[in-house]
Amino acid sequence: MNQKLIVGLDIGGTKIDAGILDTSGKILKKIRIYTEAHEGLDAVIQRIYAVIDTVTEGIKSSICGIGIGVPGQVDVKNGIVVFAPNMGWKNVEIRKLIQERYKLPVEIENDANCGALAEAKLGAGSGIDNLVWITVGTGVGGGIIIDGKLLQGANFAGGEIGHMIIEENGLVCGCGNRGCLEALAAGPAIIRQMRGKIATGTQTSVLRMIEGDLNKITVEVIAMAAKEGDNLSHKVLNRAGEYLGLGVVSLANILNPEAIILGGGVMEVAGHHLLKIIKDIVLKRALSQASKSLRIELAMLGNDAGLIGTSLLMKQFNGRYIL
Ligand SMILES: [Zn+2]
Repeated sequence: MNQKLIVGLDIGGTKIDAGILDTSGKILKKIRIYTEAHEGLDAVIQRIYAVIDTVTEGIKSSICGIGIGVPGQVDVKNGIVVFAPNMGWKNVEIRKLIQERYKLPVEIENDANCGALAEAKLGAGSGIDNLVWITVGTGVGGGIIIDGKLLQGANFAGGEIGHMIIEENGLVCGCGNRGCLEALAAGPAIIRQMRGKIATGTQTSVLRMIEGDLNKITVEVIAMAAKEGDNLSHKVLNRAGEYLGLGVVSLANILNPEAIILGGGVMEVAGHHLLKIIKDIVLKRALSQASKSLRIELAMLGNDAGLIGTSLLMKQFNGRYIL
């Protein structure tokens, strides 16, 4: 077989997706395993070796490289995971480990940056050189592509869109700060707000949908209730949309991108509602030069964006991220 194939690994705090992709970013095969990060670094590395061995069975000679996405701060030059709090990893030389075992080129990158790369190259931002990708799910993450290249920052910490401070003394964020976009508009924040309103006795059809069990509240349920005309669900989603809108306004004013693409679990279930609010805020609050031709759209690649992006890391071995 002459076809060149790439191993993609999208490593998350809960699960690891391992895939075989062709050089155009098409997923040919995918396996999902649990990370079990609590078992420690060595155990996770062994699991990564095992899943690579499984996914490449019978096609080893066609593999031309391994791309890896990790949820944390990544020194892409030296192939080191500097800090990945969800994994409990600090200064892990993952590229060296994988390279020594498989004798193949290995590239690593922050997982959100992989998603941004995929949407920029093959998704909603296809053909665009200046764009911001925002993922809204359990947290808020993102990647920024300027003139066709991922913004890395001085210490590889660039593009942390979720930790943009939106409210000076707002809710406490996982990062320890207050009022970050993530603390105000990610899935848990939306659910927390709904629970709080229910606790104060506000009427909502969500209560019927969850059969009175507050643990069953999800963003999907809130989005469904909003669609059916539930007033409280509308308000809760509007609030999250306004916070996201303020974040988008700042990104538009600072970066003047051609497109801001929003994806992630929350956008998948409530995207149309949130997008409308975000666009309204941008219209009202962004500088006209920054917003006049700005495209604000939903992502196209869904949960596979990160995995697809890992294969794009391998596109060019000697110069990175040339789109
Ligand atoms: Zn934060």
